[in-house]
Amino acid sequence: MCPPACLLDMPELPEVEVTRRGIEPYVAGRRVQRVDVRNFALRWPVPATLARELEQRVIHKVERRGKYLLFELDDGWLIVHLGMTGTLRVLRNLPALPPAARHDHIDWIFDEFVMRFRDPRRFGAVLWHPRASGGVLEHPLLASLGVEPFSSAFSGTLLHRRTRGRTVSIKQALMAGDIVVGVGNIYASESLFRAGIRPSTPAGRVSLPRYELLADAIRATLAAAIDKGGSTLRDFVGSNGESGYFQLDYFVYDRAGLPCHACGVPIRHIVQGQRSTYYCTRCQR
Ligand SMILES: [Zn+2]
Repeated sequence: MCPPACLLDMPELPEVEVTRRGIEPYVAGRRVQRVDVRNFALRWPVPATLARELEQRVIHKVERRGKYLLFELDDGWLIVHLGMTGTLRVLRNLPALPPAARHDHIDWIFDEFVMRFRDPRRFGAVLWHPRASGGVLEHPLLASLGVEPFSSAFSGTLLHRRTRGRTVSIKQALMAGDIVVGVGNIYASESLFRAGIRPSTPAGRVSLPRYELLADAIRATLAAAIDKGGSTLRDFVGSNGESGYFQLDYFVYDRAGLPCHACGVPIRHIVQGQRSTYYCTRCQR
């Protein structure tokens, strides 16, 4: 379960990736029988043609770009973003399918299970990108995203090169998403702790060796979160609970005033760009 502070900060890339890994084995190669849209009001309206595009079509695979889930079909892609409170679940026990609750916007009904999208705060998105409009990565929401943190394109060199001359703080530069995707508020604080970099440091003043440490720290932090999520996969699939988001044992995030795990100094909380930042004044310089 999320601590209260993380409501604004979830889900991040690891939660989306764990959702993808949880769902893909069920839906890949399966035919959508029916689509039941109960509520079209999300961040953008759910396309009125969604059911027509998907019904009786096979989903080939589920990929992820940033925090977008991409379901590939013959004629295009279903794009799903979980927003702040969205969840996608596979409900397998059809005879005892829980009745749709108020915030259960969409059901994709397959032969043996239902994939259900719930989003109480409605910042999520469910969109359709026809193949006739080009590859899905050309979609306006995806075209300008930064590199994937687990791709070979992501490195300390990239971070260093893309931040020369920039006075914005390193934490805000990471979170902007135009250099690298997937480093949201939680994992920005955690990665900067692992790399020993103070979050308020101007991005243009961080040296290449420190950016190399940071790139490694980002990958390690995200990988640890995905591993942790993988071990709680049952929370995403088959359950109908309120929160499937997992919680890491954070080094600094949401630990204001508590002793640093490395040095014992109380963790400090500041606000940057209207978001909470947590760091250790001794370990991060
Ligand atoms: Zn410390």
